Amino acid sequence: MAKIVEVTDLHKSYGDNEVLKGVSLSVEEGEVVVMIGPSGSGKSTFLRALNKLEEVDSGEIKIAGWDFKNPKNDINKTRMNIGMVFQHFNLFPHLTVLENLMLAPTELGKMSKEEAEATSRKLLERVGLVEKADVKPNTLSGGQKQRVAIARALAMNPNIMLFDEPTSALDPEMVGDVLAVMKELAQEGMTMIVVTHEMGFAKQVADRVVFFDNGLIREEGTPEAIFNQPKDPRTQEFLNKVL
Ligand code: ADP
Ligand code: MG
Repeated sequence: MAKIVEVTDLHKSYGDNEVLKGVSLSVEEGEVVVMIGPSGSGKSTFLRALNKLEEVDSGEIKIAGWDFKNPKNDINKTRMNIGMVFQHFNLFPHLTVLENLMLAPTELGKMSKEEAEATSRKLLERVGLVEKADVKPNTLSGGQKQRVAIARALAMNPNIMLFDEPTSALDPEMVGDVLAVMKELAQEGMTMIVVTHEMGFAKQVADRVVFFDNGLIREEGTPEAIFNQPKDPRTQEFLNKVL
């Protein structure tokens, strides 16, 4: 299996607050990695660093063909291969749902308008929202908005999807539909890194669970290993609180 992410010894500080203290992680194509850990431990900073939305102080990042160290590599091209879904959906309010999906592929010259529309309608079908194609995002529920956000990220046909607490801002009854879409995506073979507090999703869908604490990966392993036999006392303490 080919590695699609290879991160080595990442360090990042905000002022004197060291937020990433030497994080290394590699992910293989098709793998689903779920990151869990306390709030403030650096998970979002780490995900943003992968996309170079955040500059790091030191360490190496290789992702989806992009090498942090090679000045010739084009991060903008690489970003087209990385889908990102945030807690807050960040949909464009003045565009319809369909237009939200079509925007990046057409603006970045990846598809013609016709191709983008056909692809977008297929994706809306996949997330169960094809009937919402022509409405504005503000008429949708939170769960529907998040499914549109996922479809929009998929419209660029990415090699990897990064999710940062995609269900944390949703009413409980909306969470299941969004997790179902993510589960299906995982089963179709998408490479995914998912930061979440949904332990059921981690158990069911993750190939590997990574416990992030205080700027470090403390422990990683299969869901069985992490949930049933955590080795690190910090992992045990965290799981005692959330399970
Ligand atoms: P998590 O996603 O695990 O909750 P974050 O990566 O959001 O953690 O934050 C890790 C730490 O970095 C926190 O102490 C947070 O206050 C700090 N931090 C995050 N973003 C910034 C920023 N833009 N400027 C200063 N400090 C930040
Ligand atoms: Mg976060």
